[in-house]
Amino acid sequence: MIEPTRRGFLMATAIAATAPSLALAATDPYADSPFRKLTDADWRKRLPEPSYEVLRHEDTERPGSSPLLGEHRKGTFACLGCGLPIFKSEWKFESGTGWPSFYTYIPGALAKKMDMAIGVPRTEYHCAQCLGHHGHVFNDGPKPTGLRYCNNGLALKFIPA
Ligand SMILES: [Zn+2]
Repeated sequence: MIEPTRRGFLMATAIAATAPSLALAATDPYADSPFRKLTDADWRKRLPEPSYEVLRHEDTERPGSSPLLGEHRKGTFACLGCGLPIFKSEWKFESGTGWPSFYTYIPGALAKKMDMAIGVPRTEYHCAQCLGHHGHVFNDGPKPTGLRYCNNGLALKFIPA
């Protein structure tokens, strides 16, 4: 009788894992945002082509290519798609990956989903307002969160304080 018990446990775990995102969807503060009504063609017109491919089609920029890697001024990193502030400069750190990296984000600015694009599960995250793709979050970041938000610089714009 081990198998049914184990299955029950896995089911409960799966439900627990999906419940927060369901709750989030029910209270989505940006559900009526005008950015949600833009078509793919609208986005193509609004964004520079490489940023459009990242934000709207989950492309990944070449590592080491982002000018934001060297951005060390005090300020805010906002979504290039809609302007929503996502990261503060004090949360940025040198990950050595070639992508701008942060250990946390402004509460409510990001939403997450599982991504199997490369055959292994990763947690994709996107702007909570316009749903534009930004990057993936990993468990090898620094204190205090231990998280690494690995972000495409093409999806961000820096606003100096
Ligand atoms: Zn956005």
